[in-house]
Amino acid sequence: MLKGNLKCSEINKLLIRYINFDLNKKDSLRVAIHLRNCPKCMEKYSSILKRKNELKKIFIEIEKKIRMQNEISSYIDMECGDDSRFIIEAMLICDEDYKKEFEEVNNLKNMFKITESEILNSKKTNYTQKILAKERYSNYEKIKLVNKLIPFMPYIKQKFANLP
Ligand SMILES: [Zn+2]
Repeated sequence: MLKGNLKCSEINKLLIRYINFDLNKKDSLRVAIHLRNCPKCMEKYSSILKRKNELKKIFIEIEKKIRMQNEISSYIDMECGDDSRFIIEAMLICDEDYKKEFEEVNNLKNMFKITESEILNSKKTNYTQKILAKERYSNYEKIKLVNKLIPFMPYIKQKFANLP
């Protein structure tokens, strides 16, 4: 049977690159011919492809969640513009996932603030604990700042890339 002049073991080494369109035309064609004629390798190919698509979906979901949390966080901290506020408020009315995420982010923020201010205001808190609490607070503010800058990063990167 014609299998594109490649052994199954050789195909195994090329499959990932084939799936990622990372092979030259000639090798890509050889793998394609082999796959058409070898059910065993075809099965392997399908399962890798399926796994890849599943992972892609998971990454998209994670990205979506992070974006949502950043938006909500800047809304709670009153750091977003009127347009964004309007959109977020509309989302909170009509999107259950958004509402759930909002409550979670809000609870976490409140919990953090209460704990830290309790530590700072308590007479029992010693000097070291107060310094650590202050440090956590300033880290928290730093993370907020970085989150605010992240949306501009691709633009900034692109700007530099376009320089002569
Ligand atoms: Zn094979």
